[in-house]
Amino acid sequence: MMRLYNEYRTRRLVLEVWERLEGNGEWQVANSKNPPAVIAHPAADQPPPADFGLYKCGACGKMVMGFDRESHIHEAHKGKTMEWRRVR
Ligand SMILES: [Zn+2]
Repeated sequence: MMRLYNEYRTRRLVLEVWERLEGNGEWQVANSKNPPAVIAHPAADQPPPADFGLYKCGACGKMVMGFDRESHIHEAHKGKTMEWRRVR
């Protein structure tokens, strides 16, 4: 008897929450046809694949991996643009 009463009470509380959500519009927002903006462009922030090719710096002759060229330019040549020769 007590269990049945509890089940009834739980159902009643759930219904009350639903009615409240439908009343103030939160329910409609939560079930909107528009998906959340977060998953709109799942691959937009993906970085390009790393370049593991080997390059020779045109200014100092150092061998640098493709993905590391930017930081070499920054650290060794103060951001100056230079030519890279692809070694392999
Ligand atoms: Zn260099």
